[in-house]
Amino acid sequence: MAVFDVTIIGGGPVGLFGATMARLHGMTAKIIESLPELGGQLYALYPEKPIFDVGGFPSIPAKDLAAQLIAQTERFHPTICLDESVLRIEATESGYRLYTSQGVHETRAILITVGIGAFVPRKLPANDAERFEGRGVYYFVPALTAFAGRQVVVVGGGDTAVDWALAIAQHAASTTLVHRRNEFRAQPESLRLLRETPRIHLKTPYEMIGVAGSDTLTSVTIKPVGDGEPETVRADAVVSGLGFLPTLGPVKDWGLALEGNAITVAPTSMATNLRGVWACGDVAQYPGKVKLIATGFGEIGIAIAQIRTYLDPSKKGHLPHSTNIKSAKAPVENPA
Ligand SMILES: Cc1cc2nc3c(=O)[nH]c(=O)nc-3n(C[C@H](O)[C@H](O)[C@H](O)COP(=O)(O)OP(=O)(O)OC[C@H]3O[C@@H](n4cnc5c(N)ncnc54)[C@H](O)[C@@H]3O)c2cc1C
Repeated sequence: MAVFDVTIIGGGPVGLFGATMARLHGMTAKIIESLPELGGQLYALYPEKPIFDVGGFPSIPAKDLAAQLIAQTERFHPTICLDESVLRIEATESGYRLYTSQGVHETRAILITVGIGAFVPRKLPANDAERFEGRGVYYFVPALTAFAGRQVVVVGGGDTAVDWALAIAQHAASTTLVHRRNEFRAQPESLRLLRETPRIHLKTPYEMIGVAGSDTLTSVTIKPVGDGEPETVRADAVVSGLGFLPTLGPVKDWGLALEGNAITVAPTSMATNLRGVWACGDVAQYPGKVKLIATGFGEIGIAIAQIRTYLDPSKKGHLPHSTNIKSAKAPVENPA
């Protein structure tokens, strides 16, 4: 089995940039991502939302930034394993053995970029919702065009639900937003857009108590919070915007020093308490931490410099500029 120089756990924006930097600076690199696609929160949570605070992009939809990061890393040919969760790590003589949902991997160093962990959606507390999962009930929004001409009910009152309702309304025949309270907890700009989008039918304070259909979904039952008669709403798609439970999942059992749902690192090196293991991005915690994509990119620079020296102590200190790296112009296959 090939032993990689560095294995990156988590293929969100920070992990993707980590793979680019590792390959750029001569390491063999592998990304292991638990979802079937790369992009992390950018794809899974807010693909259509424009981002304004990533250097070099005046405004870029999250899914387009993810696509740029994927294209950037693919230029350097890291090995990419999708739909595979890292469950356990074990120290070996030469580094670590990683046990995943699909098999075993060997690596000299580990870079953990699992963000807020595996995305475990809060399930809809509605009768029969589980039966229609993937056949009308969605916890991850597929391509918005999948909603073209459909009757969609979005559930929730936070940023995720409001953003999805706004985006889906551009494609669906009808969009209903159901929320337990009269007030929404979303960004002021999103709330302004919601007010200015009369084709989104608001049902507040309502809760969804059931879904129904035969092979596919045909209706949902909603009811006013407190007293009130249930109502049936025709729907062939329900999108849950109830959010995700923050859970590091198996990462919590790897012997890492933790602060709540984050891994404690030294901010000058991004090193964890385990030798040969670094962490960057949302999952890395230190005094003054700011959870932004830009911060994660900076942390990657620090970590990759450290990993490079760890793997080859003759390479000390700073990283050379990419403009001075000849192989960056025509990157070669991952030799591992
Ligand atoms: C609605 C919303 C809007 C935002 N807007 C902005 C913004 O405007 N600007 C900004 O800078 N930031 C914004 N953020 C925050 C930004 O998205 C995060 O800071 C960023 O995604 C962190 O990247 P990451 O790679 O560390 O983690 P993530 O994006 O969370 O990616 C982590 C990846 O690791 C995978 N993973 C987890 N556990 C395992 C495992 N055991 N094995 C394998 N893979 C695993 C996950 O599936 C995931 O793909 C926003 C966040 C949200 C929710």
